[in-house]
Amino acid sequence: MNNMSQQKIIIITAPSGSGKTTLVKRLMLQFPTLAFSISACTRTPRGGEVDGTDYHFISLQQFEQSIAQNNFLEWEMVYEGKYYGTLKSELNRIWQNHKIPLVDIDVKGALKVQEQYKAQALSVFIKAPSIDILSERLQKRGTEPPESLKERIDKAAYELSFASKFDHTIVNDDLGKASAELSKIVSQYLTQ
Ligand code: 5GP
Repeated sequence: MNNMSQQKIIIITAPSGSGKTTLVKRLMLQFPTLAFSISACTRTPRGGEVDGTDYHFISLQQFEQSIAQNNFLEWEMVYEGKYYGTLKSELNRIWQNHKIPLVDIDVKGALKVQEQYKAQALSVFIKAPSIDILSERLQKRGTEPPESLKERIDKAAYELSFASKFDHTIVNDDLGKASAELSKIVSQYLTQ
């Protein structure tokens, strides 16, 4: 078996409302060698989300048990009372299938994964053109109650200050352009 510590891993991070999910979905269609790393989380599924596809939706008790069992590469309480974490078993499963995991995680989690995989990782930070646009996008999406919306906007403003810690930053003001930029970066990484 390959030495897994030498395997590639792609980290995509962004403040909420940056349009990251759409970009990631497009990327996955373009590069069949990538596999989405399905995180565990304790929030409730949104309409259309599928357990085991979008997330492993688990209870708080199950999550805390997994922390105690050291099952996570990283985990964060991303929003008040809501845990999210990258399962080591998920990454190993993907590498064993000879694919490259793509982790779509919050900024703190991304910094942790980057720290662990260093040069073998590719990290990309995606940002909305401005906080106003980000706030508008989140409101239009309509998936969050007002309190959660404010929490996401405040967190996004803070997370923007970490952009320079990542290998690349993409400003998502035009989906087509941002998508092309991301494909180019990933394509270069995959061939190196
Ligand atoms: P959402 O609730 O909108 O699906 O995700 C909220 C945030 O949690 C997003 O920034 C998403 O990237 C992040 N997230 C998803 N999975 C993980 C994970 O496994 N670890 C960390 N640290 N953040 C995650």
